[in-house]
Amino acid sequence: MLNLPGTGTPCISRNYHAVAPGNLREIGRKNAISYYEYTFPCQQYPSHKYRAYSHSYLTTLSLANTASLTIMPASMEYVIFSDLDGTLLDEGYSFSGASKALLELKKHEIPVVLCTSKTRAETLFWREQLGLNTPFIVENGGAILIPHNYFPATYPDAKQDFTTITLGASYERLRLALTHLQLQGIKLKGFGDMSVSEVASLTGLNFHLAFLAKQRQYDEPFIFEGKQSEGITHATTLARQQGLRVEKGGRFYHLLGNNDKGEAVLILKKLYQQQYSNITLVGIGDSENDLSLLSKVYLPFLVQRPNKTYASPDYIHAPGIGPRGWSWVVKQLLDADQAGFPRAPEFG
Ligand SMILES: [Mg+2]
Repeated sequence: MLNLPGTGTPCISRNYHAVAPGNLREIGRKNAISYYEYTFPCQQYPSHKYRAYSHSYLTTLSLANTASLTIMPASMEYVIFSDLDGTLLDEGYSFSGASKALLELKKHEIPVVLCTSKTRAETLFWREQLGLNTPFIVENGGAILIPHNYFPATYPDAKQDFTTITLGASYERLRLALTHLQLQGIKLKGFGDMSVSEVASLTGLNFHLAFLAKQRQYDEPFIFEGKQSEGITHATTLARQQGLRVEKGGRFYHLLGNNDKGEAVLILKKLYQQQYSNITLVGIGDSENDLSLLSKVYLPFLVQRPNKTYASPDYIHAPGIGPRGWSWVVKQLLDADQAGFPRAPEFG
């Protein structure tokens, strides 16, 4: 629901967008963006003409003769930033528990942005499985990848499929630092020290996905081979001395630069805000490395871990492990939205 300035009366509903595309008249096309004209039935302005521009499946409408007002479909108001492992994917790497919720989101054209510790290669695999065409954040905020023409304001490298915004430390630097920790007597083993079959047996991934998981660029997952409680403090201190960080994910510890998921979310938030006048960010995660993501969104949800606990006492606790909790969040958003779910005041 949106209010036109000065009226205070809702003038647009979710249903509106469902009928709009067929009624739009194309008036021009530039840089792969189609421009449309559409007459919008509005109680206050019965025959106002609206000008729309559309790319991909996203549509923004604005009053043709009131340039300062942009109206977008209500269904674009949420942008969901979601972790993968333990959140959208269960322990066996299946998202079947969230399939219905994903279909609902597609129906309502609510974008899902993956925000994961997985590599670019792995995330491309899952993005295709999930049928997403949105930007995504890989290796704990190490890089943001934006598909061509997703945001008109981005200037993609024509040779690449995605514009990449790099925030992380190089993998070479991380491997050198990890070797330094090993030389200091900390018994740990990184993905770079493991064969594909070792990664497969530790993660439960098949060989193909384990191979993709080893294609690291900005984040090195590792395990302690000695006593974890002794190693973690020492490793964290030594990493900090080298300008790096140690973070805990669902299955592994991670050595990385000073990037985190939250920083990457803020950059995408700005890009979405440039595009859409009124968005509400939703975050869904399960582990400590998701807390920076959750701290940057208006509606932050934690799903249950397999032992039914939550990674933090803070944030909104979704009842349900992994994808079950994920589906619960989507149901709350869609149900509550019909009754007028509160929106982020700063974007209102
Ligand atoms: Mg996770």
